[in-house]
Amino acid sequence: MTRTFVTLTEIKAARAVIAPHILRTPAVPSASLTERMGLPVHLKLEHRQITGAFKLRGALNALNSLSPDERQRGVVTASTGNHGRALAYASGLQSIRSVICMSNLVPGNKVDEIRKLGAEIRIVGTSQDEAQEEVEKIVARDGLVMVPPFDDPAIVAGQGTIGLEIVEDVPDVETVLVPLSGGGLIAGIAAAIKGLKPKTRIIGISMQNGAAMAASLKAGHPVSVVERQSLADSLGGGIGLSNNVTFGMVRALVDEVVLLSEEEIAAGIVHAYAQEREIIEGAAAVGIGALLAGKIRLQGTVIALLSGRNIDMDQHRRIVAGYQAGETMPCPA
Ligand SMILES: *Cc1c(COP(=O)(O)O)cnc(C)c1O
Repeated sequence: MTRTFVTLTEIKAARAVIAPHILRTPAVPSASLTERMGLPVHLKLEHRQITGAFKLRGALNALNSLSPDERQRGVVTASTGNHGRALAYASGLQSIRSVICMSNLVPGNKVDEIRKLGAEIRIVGTSQDEAQEEVEKIVARDGLVMVPPFDDPAIVAGQGTIGLEIVEDVPDVETVLVPLSGGGLIAGIAAAIKGLKPKTRIIGISMQNGAAMAASLKAGHPVSVVERQSLADSLGGGIGLSNNVTFGMVRALVDEVVLLSEEEIAAGIVHAYAQEREIIEGAAAVGIGALLAGKIRLQGTVIALLSGRNIDMDQHRRIVAGYQAGETMPCPA
């Protein structure tokens, strides 16, 4: 098995490639969290990125790393979430063919959104596994290139560009809170920030419901976990049993992993909306949720990364209304 470790130099190179095509998102002070926590808290508003999540950074950098021949053949993935959206959009920008495979269970509005971004859609079977099998067929039969959502050096380097922006915009940062699933996001950010400011603490945050990276770190090798429903749906899924980039990087660079209950995630969504006027999805709310739940040891200036905003708006309304009706407690006793 080959193991790869992405470096600060690669992340700087990725920035030069993707900068013309992305938003450089702001890091803003949060008055409400600063007052509540008693130390400076900033929010990195990456949910305002084009396509509604940071995944555009990695997708653009991955496309750039393809050979001319591979670009000619096109790219394929089974993600219907933020990675699929990002890959569809980034491919469209560069006139590269993209195919997104999905099961019959994916809701029609989601299918339409990805088609509008410029991708070809293949609908097969009734599970994510069947969609993934279709990806493998297309790779073998038509020669398209599979672009994975996180376990790829070019993807990690692209996501790491967020770390460069954080250090430039909040130079005295001491603690960085990053949503954690497959680990492409936190691996890139940690490599960038520790490369520039080695003493900065990098904390990964996942949901208690099926956190594959946390379980793998505990086991000492990649393991699979039972998938369960979560408000942080973008944090679901495994890390790959033959993971060769993100697991090693997360183990080496991430200082701590914190797990949140569904109530704590909901409290993060509600706080972002009511106090910060930001609409964010569950995966993006875990930094705020962890602060509110008292699960972060407070030390120095904190920055919480808001990673995406692609939440179903009916669900968002229900979460906010439920909280106001007292159904969801921000900090369960
Ligand atoms: C993909 C995603 C994450 C997690 O990123 P990983 O690289 O898989 O750890 C967090 N938040 C949002 C909104 C995402 O789409």
